[in-house]
Amino acid sequence: MAEFTSYNPATVRVIGEIIESFMLGFPEHIRQLGLIVLEKYGIRAVDPNRFYNAQPFLDAMKEMAQRFGRTWMARIGEQMAMRVELPTGRHSLEAAFRGLDKVYHSKYCGGEIGNWTYRHEGVSQGIQRGRMTSTNHYCCAFDRGTLEGFAKRFKPFGINDALVRHDDTQPCRKNGADSCTYIISWG
Ligand SMILES: [Zn+2]
Repeated sequence: MAEFTSYNPATVRVIGEIIESFMLGFPEHIRQLGLIVLEKYGIRAVDPNRFYNAQPFLDAMKEMAQRFGRTWMARIGEQMAMRVELPTGRHSLEAAFRGLDKVYHSKYCGGEIGNWTYRHEGVSQGIQRGRMTSTNHYCCAFDRGTLEGFAKRFKPFGINDALVRHDDTQPCRKNGADSCTYIISWG
């Protein structure tokens, strides 16, 4: 889906935990500015266990992306991925990527929200490669940050780096397309 656009603005809702976690990704000195933007869209005193209409949250995210920039948005995604609670047993990079779509869906209700689709593409000269396609309603930079956060959190012991890059040969939501594709490599 195009960036910050819900598939079903009238019905899709997001759990407050996601809004709260998004705000905790802010550096403290600008969190207040972020809260003011949220309030502008009618979101205040968020209860982590309650569901909220998703589109006003996406509208607030869009305004924050415009104000603070895409790199900043990627860092918030990374912070959230480092912190998000996952079902037990998800302790490898691949398992985290494979399970991401299920986790994403567990945070929303009320209709279509797009998907994260992961495919392992094999090993070449000791380097593993995976491909993730996202059709969710966030934005290109935020999702790249999310994958970078998972890569940092779950990279296998002894591995220097797990790299995430945007596949520029594929469509991009930043340009109005419905999906973005990311290549992850580690080993
Ligand atoms: Zn993109």
